[in-house]
Amino acid sequence: MDVLDWIRIGASLAVIAVALWFAGRRLLVLYRLLRLARPMPERMGNWPQKLRYQLQHVLGQQKILKWTGSGALHALIFWGFVILQTQSVEAIGEVFDPDFAIPLIGRSEVLGFLQDLFTLAVFVAVVGFAAIRLAQSPRRLGRASRFAGSNLLQGWYVLLGEVGLLYTVLVLRGARYAEGTLPYPEGAFLSRWVGEQFVGLPETSLEIIKTAFLLAHVATLMGFLVFVAYSKHLHILTVFPKVAFARLPKALGPLQSERIDLEAMDEDTVLGVGKIEQFGFTRLLDMYTCTECGRCQSQCPAWNTGKPLSPKLLIMDLRDHLYASAPHLLDDSKVDGHEDVDVLGKMLVGDRPGQQDAVIDYDVLWSCTTCGACVEECPVDIEHVDHIVDLRRYKVQMESSFPQEAAGMLRNIEHAGDPWGLGASKRMDWAEGLEVPVVDGRIPEDAEYLFWVGCAGALEDRAKKVTRDVAQLMAAAGVRYAVLGGGERCTGDPARRMGMEYLFQQMATQNVATLNEAGVRRVVTWCPHCFNTLRNEYPDFGGTYEVVHHTQLLASLVADGRLAPQTAVDAKVTYHDPCYLGRHNDVYEPPRAVVDGVAGLEKVEMPRCRNQGFCCGAGGARMWMEETIGTRVNHDRIDEALALEPDLVASACPFCMVMLDDAVNDRASRGDLAEGQVRVVDVSQILAQSLLPVAAVNGNGAHPSVTAGAEHE
Ligand code: SF4
Ligand code: SF4
Repeated sequence: MDVLDWIRIGASLAVIAVALWFAGRRLLVLYRLLRLARPMPERMGNWPQKLRYQLQHVLGQQKILKWTGSGALHALIFWGFVILQTQSVEAIGEVFDPDFAIPLIGRSEVLGFLQDLFTLAVFVAVVGFAAIRLAQSPRRLGRASRFAGSNLLQGWYVLLGEVGLLYTVLVLRGARYAEGTLPYPEGAFLSRWVGEQFVGLPETSLEIIKTAFLLAHVATLMGFLVFVAYSKHLHILTVFPKVAFARLPKALGPLQSERIDLEAMDEDTVLGVGKIEQFGFTRLLDMYTCTECGRCQSQCPAWNTGKPLSPKLLIMDLRDHLYASAPHLLDDSKVDGHEDVDVLGKMLVGDRPGQQDAVIDYDVLWSCTTCGACVEECPVDIEHVDHIVDLRRYKVQMESSFPQEAAGMLRNIEHAGDPWGLGASKRMDWAEGLEVPVVDGRIPEDAEYLFWVGCAGALEDRAKKVTRDVAQLMAAAGVRYAVLGGGERCTGDPARRMGMEYLFQQMATQNVATLNEAGVRRVVTWCPHCFNTLRNEYPDFGGTYEVVHHTQLLASLVADGRLAPQTAVDAKVTYHDPCYLGRHNDVYEPPRAVVDGVAGLEKVEMPRCRNQGFCCGAGGARMWMEETIGTRVNHDRIDEALALEPDLVASACPFCMVMLDDAVNDRASRGDLAEGQVRVVDVSQILAQSLLPVAAVNGNGAHPSVTAGAEHE
């Protein structure tokens, strides 16, 4: 061995040892924090499905490719680095054996070609990413930039590191080509081109170049490893366990049921999350995995209307707090037992806006509509909604700290069984003049569906008209159904999204008992919130039913010819996707199909539609809270609709209807619209109008027109 060999091996070993020590230390801390977190047994199992998910989303980059430009660049870098790992293996091998080649494939021209092809591709992708970062810089776009609040320098370090890895290995391979030891001189076209620039250099110079660039490559690689362990780039390691413990079939799903047994509660019982270490371990994995890409932020209705909530910043703040708390959490002697503040003397969520000693501001927590746009967009499936509800559960149930204007809604659900406090006796008012079968004990044998009317459908004036239409349409199609009438109670959805899990569980238990005693198997709902709760969340409480939304049922009735639209509806219509029907349950086409067969309609889509639909502002119990910061979410949404100059804004949710209708009225009162120029309707109402005359919809054989300028009932 000559002196260069000693330098190469000695320096490389030293760099590798130091890097492994720093990275390993960090990874051990992260692992120990995961062990401290709450176990989540429900996330175990389903390994074959998770493997498939891993292949689709990690290897296949399926979700990230939704954002075509940056998605394609990311996929290039990901696939590129999978291939280019072979170069790093070769480089490490070369430290110890200058003639090292990967067994079996190491001398194949194809490998050399692929390595150089992807070197070129990754260079192009890095330049593309740099261009995106400059074009979308927060300095230029301010709050509108998806990178606003991200660690921008880390992003640039990553790009620089990638260039460093590519450059050092390319020069190394070029020197090997020039000295005639590159194992695949024909296939490695780029290395050959670099090597041709070295041809003619003395052998010693080539040796020095090789040694210097091999050391530089090993140092860059090891530096990158350490950087990954300490930065947002940790996702390239944590994305694998993240997927292994993912919620299936997708990240946006039913909230986790935190079983509450009052009898078993003692002074140590904690409901929800009041300290960072009380999160479940997959929530910590979320914090580790956020790439700070800001896709979630760019779609968030709260952020886009000037509220302080950004789902990205929420996750980053929790993560930074977790890391800052780690030395204390992992050292028992430093953990104090104070109830209200954590190891750093901070509250996790403030009790009022602007509190300095709170990790998450009060207005951040309470601005969320639980619309799920963040989860839908996140390329690494971070479950922001679950984090938010975990925090709300603690504030509401342990501290009674929440926007007090929503207290009435909770009280009403508890005492009257509905958010408005109108009570069971009013629940059949919508059916006045109609023949609607009400379940008396058991559901009638011949009933195909239990029609779950919902609190809004039974009690809110605008929604009641839709309930009548849906009932009439089912009757016209010969669908046999029954309702629970006064036996129906709020599903508990607003209480659950608000964080009042105990009340939700009371309602769920009561409703499931009613439905099971009645022998219900199939349910049709008109409210997407009821649909979501009955379909996805009641199974945890022993209520497993086949649940469809009214738009799914109506679409199938139209498709089967049981409902045949007859009268043309001469109007321009745009459809607003309710979050709990669309993103939460992937029902996008049936509402559109309901009106597809109606002649005369001109259908136009808003730019933000389907899985990128923009919330109306009512979800997450926001319907019952003041909205005093920024612009109103429903105004933002209706302005997008009004830009298309529609006659009708259609939806399929009573809460969306109320929010959008209020927004139309606000715009009309501002003078932007003539009274009645634009109407907010449910898709079923359009179908009902087209089926004129539907028998006795109003008891007089005529149906109220939904088209512009016509009189409402
Ligand atoms: S659920 Fe909707 S409102 Fe809440 S943080 Fe996510 S995108 Fe924003
Ligand atoms: S939460 Fe997901 S979408 Fe949001 S910044 Fe992090 S990685 Fe990107």
